[in-house]
Amino acid sequence: MPKRKEKSEIEKALSQKLSRREFLKKAALGAIGVGVGAYALDRIFFGGQELPAASQTMTQSLSKWSKEAYNFIQLGGNRVKCMTCPHGCILDENGVGICRAKVNKNGKLYSIAYGNPCAVHIDPVEKKPLFHFYPGSTAYSLATGGCNLRCLNCQNWDISQASPLETKNIDLMPEQVVDEALSNNCKSIAYTYSDPLAFYEYTLDSCKIARGKGVKNILVTAGYINTAPLKEWCKYVDAAHVDLKSFSEEIYNKLNSATLQPVLNTIKTMKEQGVWVEIINLVVPTWTDKMDMIKQMCEWIHKNCGEDQVLHFSRFYPQHKLTNLPQTPVDTLEQARKTAIDSGLNYVYIGNVPGHNAENTLCPKCGKIVVERQGYTIKQNNLVNGTCKNCGQKIAGIWK
Ligand code: SF4
Ligand SMILES: [Zn+2]
Repeated sequence: MPKRKEKSEIEKALSQKLSRREFLKKAALGAIGVGVGAYALDRIFFGGQELPAASQTMTQSLSKWSKEAYNFIQLGGNRVKCMTCPHGCILDENGVGICRAKVNKNGKLYSIAYGNPCAVHIDPVEKKPLFHFYPGSTAYSLATGGCNLRCLNCQNWDISQASPLETKNIDLMPEQVVDEALSNNCKSIAYTYSDPLAFYEYTLDSCKIARGKGVKNILVTAGYINTAPLKEWCKYVDAAHVDLKSFSEEIYNKLNSATLQPVLNTIKTMKEQGVWVEIINLVVPTWTDKMDMIKQMCEWIHKNCGEDQVLHFSRFYPQHKLTNLPQTPVDTLEQARKTAIDSGLNYVYIGNVPGHNAENTLCPKCGKIVVERQGYTIKQNNLVNGTCKNCGQKIAGIWK
C-alpha cells in the first residue's frame, strides 16, 4: 500500500483555512491577493429555490486562474451560451453562470476555476467512496469553489455554494497537481468535494497529464453534464462516483435544482465509454426514502447497468438547509439495501454508518467476505486475481 506522507505542504497551507466571512473581510481590506467580484443582487428562482441569475454580473477582470472555456457558443452582441451542463446558461458581457465558475468577458466564456483549488487532501479511495477500485490506495483529492447544483442537503456548501473568487485558494496548476499526486504516492487523483463539472477545464487538463504519467483519474460528481463534454472527460477518466440523488424529476427539481434524465444519461454514457462507475444514493428522510421509488431506481440500474453495478446507500446527517431533519434510520438503509438485492444487484453497500457489516464486499456466489472494511480501512482482502479466494467467482472491479 502506498505510504502516505503525514501532511503535505499544501495540506498545511490549507489547514489554516479562513471562514468565508473572515476571507471576505480580509479580501475587502486587501489582505488577500484574490479579488472578489462585485455581484449584482438580481436573483432568479429555479425549482422553488434561489439561484444566481445567469445575467448576474462581476467586475473582476480575468486573472491567471482564468481559462477560456472548452464548451460554449457565441450568440452575437457579446452574449455567449455555455454548453457544459444542461443549465445552458446564456451570459451577457460580465455575466456569471449558475455554477459561479464561468464568466463572459469580451464575448468569450472563461472558467475562473483553473489552478486555484480551495480544498486539497490525501484521502483513502474508500472515502470517495469507491469500493471496487484499487482498495487501500490513496487519492490526491481536490476541489475549487462552485457547483451547478443547489442541493438543500449539501455537505460542502461552504465551497460548493461559493464562487472560486470567494474561497481561500492555493496556486496549483495541472502539472503541479500530478507532481503532488506522484510525490505523495497516490494511485489516483480525485476531483471531488464540490463538483468537478464546475472546474471542468482544470479537471480535463489535469486528467490528460495524469494519464500520461500513469496516475488514475477519479470523478466524484452529480453527473449533471452534457454528453459531448462528458465523452471528452471519459477519454481520460478511470473511475467515477456518480450521485443518483433520487429517481424522481420532481424531487431532483426541488431538492437539487436539477433534473434526473441527464444524470441517467451520464451513468449510461460513462459505462459505455469504459469508466468504472459506482452509484451513490443518499437516503434523505421524507425526501428520498420512499421504498417504491428506491425500487424503481434499483430496477432501472439493474436493467441498464447490469447485476454487477455497485450501489451505495448513504446515511444522511442534518446539513445545510435540512438541519430540521433527523439522520436516516439504519433500518431504512437496510430496507433500501434489501430492495436493491431483491432487484438483482450483487454489490450493495451502506455508507456513513461506522461498523455496519454492509461495508464488506461479499462474493455473490458463495457469500463469503472477499473484502472486509471498517470505515476506510481494509481489514481483509481475500481476492486472488480479482476472484473469490473461496470459490473462484470473478468479482467485478478494478483491483490491481
Ligand atoms: S457549467 Fe456553469 S455556466 Fe455552464 S451551463 Fe452549467 S451552470 Fe451554466
Ligand atoms: Zn465465492
